[in-house]
Amino acid sequence: MLKLFSLVIAVSLFSIDSHAQSAPTVSAINTIDFELPVDQSIHYMTRQSWTTRDGLPHNSINAIAQDKQGFLWFGTWQGPVRFDGKDFDIYDDIRVTGLPDIGIFSIALNPCDDSIYVAGARGGISRFHDNRWLPLEPAPPFVNEVEIDSNCTIWVSSSEQGLINYENNERVSQFTTDNGLPSNNVYQARVDTAGNLWAATAGGLMVKKSGATQFQRVGGLPDNRIRKLFLDHDGRLLVGTGSGLFQQQDERFKFKKLLPDINYTISAINRTQDGALWLGTYRNGILRFFKGELQQVTTETGLPNNHVLDILEDQEGSVWVSTHGGLMQFRRSLFTTMQSHNGLAGDFVRTVYEFKNKLYVGTSSGISRLTESRLTTFEAPHPLANQSVLSFEQYQGQLLIGTYTNGLFMWDGERVTQHLTSDTVLRSEEVRALTTSDDYGIFLGSPTGVTQLVDTDQGWQTRTITTKDGIQNNYITALRVINDELWIASVSGVSVVDLATSTGGEWAVKQLDFSDLHNAQLTFQISHKGPYVFLATDRGLIYHNQNNNKWQIINRDQGLPFDNYLAMSFDGDANIWLGSNRGAIFIAHDVFNDFLEGTIDKLTYQRFTEVDGMGSSQVNSGGPSMIRSDNGRVWMSTARGVSSVAPSDLKAMVQIAPPAVIASVTADGKRVSYGSRIPADTQRLVVNYAGLGYLMADHIEYQVRLVGFDDQWLPRGSMTTSEYTSLPANDYVFQVRAAYPGGAWSEPVSFAFTRSEHPWQQSWFWLTIALAGIAITTVLVRARIRFLSNQRTQLELMVAEKTKELKGLARQDSLTQLGNRRAFDEQLQYEVKRCERSAQPLSLAIIDVDHFKLINDRYLHVIGDQVLIELSSLLSNMLRDVDYIARWGGEEFALLMPETNAKEALKAAERIRQTVEDTSFNHLANDLSVTVSIGVASSEHYPNHSALLVAADKALYEAKQRGRNRTELA
Ligand code: GH3
Ligand code: MG
Ligand code: MG
Repeated sequence: MLKLFSLVIAVSLFSIDSHAQSAPTVSAINTIDFELPVDQSIHYMTRQSWTTRDGLPHNSINAIAQDKQGFLWFGTWQGPVRFDGKDFDIYDDIRVTGLPDIGIFSIALNPCDDSIYVAGARGGISRFHDNRWLPLEPAPPFVNEVEIDSNCTIWVSSSEQGLINYENNERVSQFTTDNGLPSNNVYQARVDTAGNLWAATAGGLMVKKSGATQFQRVGGLPDNRIRKLFLDHDGRLLVGTGSGLFQQQDERFKFKKLLPDINYTISAINRTQDGALWLGTYRNGILRFFKGELQQVTTETGLPNNHVLDILEDQEGSVWVSTHGGLMQFRRSLFTTMQSHNGLAGDFVRTVYEFKNKLYVGTSSGISRLTESRLTTFEAPHPLANQSVLSFEQYQGQLLIGTYTNGLFMWDGERVTQHLTSDTVLRSEEVRALTTSDDYGIFLGSPTGVTQLVDTDQGWQTRTITTKDGIQNNYITALRVINDELWIASVSGVSVVDLATSTGGEWAVKQLDFSDLHNAQLTFQISHKGPYVFLATDRGLIYHNQNNNKWQIINRDQGLPFDNYLAMSFDGDANIWLGSNRGAIFIAHDVFNDFLEGTIDKLTYQRFTEVDGMGSSQVNSGGPSMIRSDNGRVWMSTARGVSSVAPSDLKAMVQIAPPAVIASVTADGKRVSYGSRIPADTQRLVVNYAGLGYLMADHIEYQVRLVGFDDQWLPRGSMTTSEYTSLPANDYVFQVRAAYPGGAWSEPVSFAFTRSEHPWQQSWFWLTIALAGIAITTVLVRARIRFLSNQRTQLELMVAEKTKELKGLARQDSLTQLGNRRAFDEQLQYEVKRCERSAQPLSLAIIDVDHFKLINDRYLHVIGDQVLIELSSLLSNMLRDVDYIARWGGEEFALLMPETNAKEALKAAERIRQTVEDTSFNHLANDLSVTVSIGVASSEHYPNHSALLVAADKALYEAKQRGRNRTELA
């Protein structure tokens, strides 16, 4: 019998009833055998789904394809759709696609020129290439399939015209009933590796053998409709029929049923890189046949709809399943999660623990135990059934289970050996924390203090530790015996008890003072490794080096995303994992090492959440909620199941980079094509890009650079737009690259363009002006002969006027309307000479906006521009008539103060600095503040103009060095 059915049986419970009469023992256990190790099963793949609510134009996705760039394409009744992981581009305008109707039933990639072909309603066929749609001659009334073979021949299966073949996008031949087809309604066609042409028709499967002219019928297949043809990796044809799947045999024209017990109608077939066979059915969801096991996902287990239309494996290995009710992606995610639908005792998991090679999962509604291929849950009437678990620990070959309302259980792996409650030895039924030691017995933390349990000949002896003994609070959150010390975390702080000296009824309690550690109070987990003790607290991860008695806390100040952590664990590669309510934080071993050694002072981290496969990003607190198992995996208790991650998978995952694409470049709203020239008067250049990765589409990060302007890679976070304003004339190459968080960068993609020069920035322009001037003069000379001389003077004046105006333009900055650097240079040389003559001092100030890059990055380039515009009018308004101000560079202004000595200039500059600081820019962006640094130099000390400039620049540098928002005199 097929495995599918044995799976169904395995899922239904089988219980072991042991009727031992003595002491509480096993009475009921529910076991589920996994059909495969969890990380290979479809049931543990991360799923994400999309419907019209997420932007799809229709919930029936008839066909899926991926182009070489990485875009996914969907064929819907509302047109072809292109998807980049975030947005759906819907091509629903037939004026654009050239189709007779928008309904798309089939999509194919032409591997020869990377174009996408779509076809469907009214027989329309169109091709998307280089961002343009180019329609082909249609095949009305309907195209069932467009398919492109390895020779790039296009096969169009039509509903009434038989099979049509296109080469170079031109219709070249057609096969109909004249060629032996039983019907002109052809569903699909394939050419196999031997050159045989296969056609699924309304009259059954037909083949035109290589070299033959006529089709002939293929026997051995059920008579009902043949819907799906698929060329498998081994070159064999797979045929989906109304009653199961058939496989081509070595004899080529014989078929045999592949999965004898599957009689479903097969509507989609695909074989993924890992060798798994995926089948879509007409009404029974998805089947996946892998390593001899068959798994099935239906609407009962989360599929949007049981009618599957197409299946595609993308370049990253994710599998896309389209149905009548939306789209679903299956991907192998970093985290494996077990939830109640997988058989776990409950979804609210508080604590995990490894005991005798099994992983115990404590939930709010019971206990499960896990091996690589088996999940066991204790069920009523087993004494461990339905227990709400708070803590685990082990003691002398027993697993200790601390519960919420039922005291402490001891379990030897087979049976409950003891059950301690407040009726016997405990002070409270609530066992929140457990720690044990061979020398000192069991310590148990409850809301009423700590209880020590020591096994003696007379039974359990108990002693308590409470606020009377000097701990901060009786409500205990975590405990740990480390060497001869008991660390006690309560809701109001941590104490350490020296157990070795705690004799004669007295506990040697020492309260720890965390006032220098951000006043941490709530500690959720205590662990230790080497000389370090680690505390997961509400203010960060505290660690104590027991060798040198140094305390340290890491939190936001050291680069972490937030302050409060509920759990911590090392994994098998000694990387650190922190549990928080907002996901799991990963700090690589090397990074933490460098930090401990002081070579770096900021930590880099990665944050993982549901999109990475965690059941919930809320990691719970528990005793302990996060552990490392012997195989190196880290397990974490979440609000929706237990999740685990292997460090080796993390390494493999971060190597994958999402390919970056540039979606569009526009100059003042007009599209720019690659390598083209953008007009000189362009104000704003906008580049839109995307990373075509679907593993963690929401987490993709970008870096950009504009070679020719800014040669550094600039981090853009998750922003998919870059803007440039007032670019100087130059040749540019825009580049963007993408990565998953902490992962490798993709190859950069580039876009080259040129910003033209204004005519007056080019020498030919001046040459022409000069020649024109000469020509005009010549004309005037001649004219003078004929006309009165005052007319010539008139014309010369006009030319001079025009020239001056044009020259003025070339000396003006287009953004701020101030003079530009060239204008300033001229003015400076002129003023230096004039001051020399008049023996008057001259001062120069260079004003540079502080951290302007941050303003651009944090807000937008437009806001940056606005700041520059407002600053220039602010500055202009503060000047005396004789002063001269210009835009000296990007966010630098130069101010010339004739007849001003160093002292006066410094005062004026300081007044400017103060005014800028006091001016509110809040109307541009919330909490936007702007300050400037100013360098001042005077001709008293630096007589020539270049020395003056260098000195002012140096003073500016000083001002920046000394903390910015300052004025310095050279
Ligand atoms: P510092 O305090 O050291 O001066 O830091 P900063 O970020 O101001 O200095 P930096 O020189 O590194 O950056 C200047 C930035 O000004 C870089 C450039 O992108 C930006 N910029 C230059 N011209 C313009 C412009 O016309 N508009 C806008 N919005 N930004 C500009
Ligand atoms: Mg600068
Ligand atoms: Mg600056």
